[in-house]
Amino acid sequence: MNIKILGNGGAINDGLPYNSFVINGTLLCETPPDIMLSIHKNFIELSSINTIYISHLHGDHIFGLPFLILSAFFFHAGTNEKLSFKIIGPEGLEMMAENLVVSAFTSKHPCFKWMKEFCTFSKVNETSRPHLVSGFQTSIFKLDHLIDTYGFSLANEDHNVDFAYVADTRWCESVHTVLRSKPRVVLIDLNGKDDDPEPVHLSIGDLRRKAILITDGETKYYGTHLKEEFNSTISCVICAKPGMDINL
Ligand SMILES: [Zn+2]
Ligand SMILES: [Zn+2]
Repeated sequence: MNIKILGNGGAINDGLPYNSFVINGTLLCETPPDIMLSIHKNFIELSSINTIYISHLHGDHIFGLPFLILSAFFFHAGTNEKLSFKIIGPEGLEMMAENLVVSAFTSKHPCFKWMKEFCTFSKVNETSRPHLVSGFQTSIFKLDHLIDTYGFSLANEDHNVDFAYVADTRWCESVHTVLRSKPRVVLIDLNGKDDDPEPVHLSIGDLRRKAILITDGETKYYGTHLKEEFNSTISCVICAKPGMDINL
């Protein structure tokens, strides 16, 4: 499995490209405002993407979708290479996508019709098992964020969890549960600071005090959705950086 980090920034950050990544060249996770910039900078072929996963409907995760749709429409029209996306996310995703495309380019723009014809939307909740990446079983888990937010894990043919994505959340039972499966790699929201008066996001302190005790040295954590990049003093905690390839 290859996980390509496109961006590592949270909603407010000191100039980082926003949080997004691609798995095996086919699954794009999150479409933040700068998604097309990140796609081009990292030489991702839009035509290789067949599935888009959006963890929740905050702007730093979805406001780039109209620009991706516009680019896909022009690519399709220009090359006649058939392009279509399965777009997966929480309840309300399809309506939000339509509203964003109409707000950005109006319903008269042919990209709106293209989206209606070539994109399918599916809702996730904690009982869904959508197909995200070939050869892997998906599990979805609900996180503790301000609005409905879902992370996912991918298990290989031997039922071992290779990868988990823990999107925006504070520490909660489902984070505990997914870590008990000892994923080989966890890409995790580390937007929080240890001294946050009311935690909204996870922090390195949460990893040190809780997560690492559960995974017992078997899991590598890549921190993303950051305010700023960090230097880790913990060997199994790594700062995810744009352009980084995580291969496993
Ligand atoms: Zn966010
Ligand atoms: Zn959020």
